[in-house]
Amino acid sequence: MSFENLGLKAELLRAIAAQGYTSPTPIQTQAIPVVLEGHDVLAGAQTGTGKTAAFTLPLLQLLDDGTGGHRHPRALILTPTRELAAQVAESVATYGSHLKLRHAVVFGGVGINPQIDKLRRGVDILVATPGRLLDLANQRAVDLRHVQVLVLDEADRMLDMGFIHDIRKVLALLPGRRQNLLFSATYSDEIKRLADKLLREPVLIEVARRNTTAETVTQAAYRVDRKRKRELLASLILKGDWHQVLVFTRTKHGANRLAEQLEKDGITTAAIHGNKSQSARTNALAGFKSGQIQALIATDIAARGLDIDRLPHVVNYELPNVPEDYVHRIGRTGRAGENGVALSLVSGDEVAYVKGIERLLKRALPMEIVAGFEPTGDDGPIEDRPPRPGNGRGRPGQGHNRNRPGHQDKAGNRKPRNANRSRTAPSR
Ligand code: AMP
Repeated sequence: MSFENLGLKAELLRAIAAQGYTSPTPIQTQAIPVVLEGHDVLAGAQTGTGKTAAFTLPLLQLLDDGTGGHRHPRALILTPTRELAAQVAESVATYGSHLKLRHAVVFGGVGINPQIDKLRRGVDILVATPGRLLDLANQRAVDLRHVQVLVLDEADRMLDMGFIHDIRKVLALLPGRRQNLLFSATYSDEIKRLADKLLREPVLIEVARRNTTAETVTQAAYRVDRKRKRELLASLILKGDWHQVLVFTRTKHGANRLAEQLEKDGITTAAIHGNKSQSARTNALAGFKSGQIQALIATDIAARGLDIDRLPHVVNYELPNVPEDYVHRIGRTGRAGENGVALSLVSGDEVAYVKGIERLLKRALPMEIVAGFEPTGDDGPIEDRPPRPGNGRGRPGQGHNRNRPGHQDKAGNRKPRNANRSRTAPSR
């Protein structure tokens, strides 16, 4: 199957070719023709399947009448998070680069006035998070009565995050006759209710079974004492020469602390979580994507919907207590056919979480022990302090200690001149 066979116009095919995509992913093969025909769609697709292009490409084609410059949005894409909104908008810009359509992205946490100005100049496609969109609508900065196509992206996440009331309010501002596309990684009863209300004779598309993980992701679990997790992670990153690793912690505080500690190990690091300003989060993500930041430490909320091309490594520094979050986390790697490795560092108290994950995945997650990091059964307290200086004391054979000076040099060299501006190393 090729993109040409899907009925896309030349301008879109050129943009796709410029991205280096040679063939459509399964969700694209199934969704693009159906959306082009004007059907409502209920699509079960996780991040990493190519779902963004699956709705963005046909949407652009449907709206493109060669004129551009319509005053009011004719397509509305709702996303749960600011990061996802920004990424979807980037896709709209990329795939639409040879068309005359205009788009805007609006989300909270940044000034509203530039968004009002942008909307005033006229947009065809509006990407938005629900809260800020309602603020703008209340201020009469946007008129949604001309929306022809509505996309709810990661609808399950929007419901998880409590956006159902906001979504209902947005729906009330839209015209009754429109095309609706609902994308969700899971089908809860709540999603079914929303789909029943929203969609008219939808075409059902499902590309990856619920709660399955991509075949291209190698999963491993390392059993290690909690108090030695940081050492093990640093050792893995340094010895393995990992350049791009997304690390999940359970708490914002834990993310900050780990970021600080890894910096001391000579690893360029940034933390993103809900307490970081929008610009700090955007900078951290940009630095991570461009390779200036080796390790991005994130909480689940902050990482939702992150689109990072070909992410090679994901580490669960702490296991999520909700097994479904494990699937979402490791969905960040091995995307669209690329290989990825997802590692979990499991302390004694987390072994029970592994069982829950295995039940959900219906497969075993083999537990391994790394030489030099054999668990003693003494998990110790949660590390609250940075390691004491001079911890060369004892524990021979740990690669990262031996390697430290070299890596500090390397990290020093790697730091961009504007490091302070583009990184969001925690300031605690
Ligand atoms: P998504 O599921 O929309 O978050 O997309 C996952 C990743 O796959 C993104 O980084 C896209 O750039 C990439 N991608 C989307 N479509 C294709 C394709 N047909 N071939 C290769 N990569 C793709």
